[in-house]
Amino acid sequence: MNYKDPVRFTEDFMSYLKAKNPRETEFHQAVLVVVESLADFLVKNPRLIKAKILERMVEPERVIMFRVPWIDDEGNVCINRGYRIEMNSAIGPYKGGLRFHPTVSLSTFKFLAFEQVLKNSLTSLPMGGGKGGSDFNPKGKSDNEVMRFCQSFVTELYRHIGANTDIPAGDIGVGGREIGYMFGQYKRLRNEFTGVFTGKGTDWGGSLIRPEATGYGAVYFAEEMLKTRGDSIEGKKVTISGSGNVAQYAVEKVLDLGGKPVTLSDSNGTIYDPAGISREKLEYVKMLKNGYRGRIKEYADEYDKVEYFENQRPWHIKCDVALPCATQNELDLKDAETLLGNGCFVVAEGANMPSTYEAEHLFLEKGILYAPGKAANAGGVAVSGLEMTQNSMRFNWSREEVDEKLKTIMTNIHEMCVTYGKNGDGPVNYVKGANIAGFVKVANSMMSQGIV
Ligand code: NDP
Repeated sequence: MNYKDPVRFTEDFMSYLKAKNPRETEFHQAVLVVVESLADFLVKNPRLIKAKILERMVEPERVIMFRVPWIDDEGNVCINRGYRIEMNSAIGPYKGGLRFHPTVSLSTFKFLAFEQVLKNSLTSLPMGGGKGGSDFNPKGKSDNEVMRFCQSFVTELYRHIGANTDIPAGDIGVGGREIGYMFGQYKRLRNEFTGVFTGKGTDWGGSLIRPEATGYGAVYFAEEMLKTRGDSIEGKKVTISGSGNVAQYAVEKVLDLGGKPVTLSDSNGTIYDPAGISREKLEYVKMLKNGYRGRIKEYADEYDKVEYFENQRPWHIKCDVALPCATQNELDLKDAETLLGNGCFVVAEGANMPSTYEAEHLFLEKGILYAPGKAANAGGVAVSGLEMTQNSMRFNWSREEVDEKLKTIMTNIHEMCVTYGKNGDGPVNYVKGANIAGFVKVANSMMSQGIV
């Protein structure tokens, strides 16, 4: 069909997507945001429409689903489901994290894998996109149970991954411990030591700054956005959700840049520390969350004058900058209205798709500095890409070298978003900028490689 009208194109495309992928609401949401951004560009480039680039991009190259049987400490047989979506390999081998969380579904992994393709393209590194994981819940499990689960998971997954094929990493519920167990089992099955996972320990092939990269990168991106208005993080009050990997290092970088982080959360509630989360308190959070895997409420028991809000997210707390770093759709329209009403003017997403469709539209309409996850949280996969390079070279860069490269990549992503998201004299639309910049490279590569 010869499209002239971007709205008509978007409507028809979404009808097609929904008919082919019924009930996959998170996937629909992620694709809609991208199609809305691209529609203008596509109707001006009919050869991409004719080649069905977008239809091909929403169809995973491969979907792998498998049984993961394991035995718990009491001797019970447990069955989980494993997933790997190998979404797009036009610009490099599949690359993207593994998530272990009881709520995941095919829709979750398809939305994450789709976003990953564009994000990886934005980093300018040669990485295609993939995502996977399991409905396994690591919470409350012993180390031995987690190990047995990871070993069973990789006993199937190992056939599909490899340093030149598909390179998984961490995500929610998958950190250094889980990557270690999975890498160990892969090495044992294949009898080879390769960089098949990223986020490895630094003693056995991991990159310095990889654990820090997503949180640091999100704050670097926020700083770049603020620079466009002659401003900086220094002196800003910052609310952060989550208390895992991304949130912890977002706090650390906000402190480095002179800001004041005041909140953290988990799935049970939010802590608000009006005095600010200091470095010493952050060390306590790391011990609490990464060491004995406790609940964020304990922070409020540990320190004076800290409020705890059971079952609430941090968005009612007054702030200048908000960094959602927990999970998808954790910031809805009402939260967005509250944030804006309280004077928040910067939102940089550490998590993937944390703002609902309606919240995102409000941020865009009001012209605040709003960075979608695929741009703001690309630092994690960027340093994963650097880990792959170091593994290939059999050489390690110093902390300073990796951090410098991370900063440069985040600055470049920011520049690309500005180039494609500029809107006359109006505010930069970072959503449009990220989506178009990410898309162009993948689309051109797909055009060059024929109908595959
Ligand atoms: P972690 O598992 O380390 O931490 C996740 C945090 O979010 C925990 O505090 C967790 O609380 C909270 N959380 C998770 N699910 C929910 C939920 N349904 N409702 C409320 N809180 C929830 O994960 P990461 O920090 O690695 O990941 C956080 C986000 O960042 C995710 O969206 C991920 O996709 C994204 N991301 C991560 C990257 C990385 O390098 N790790 C890279 C790019 C993006 P609780 O402990 O109670 O579950």
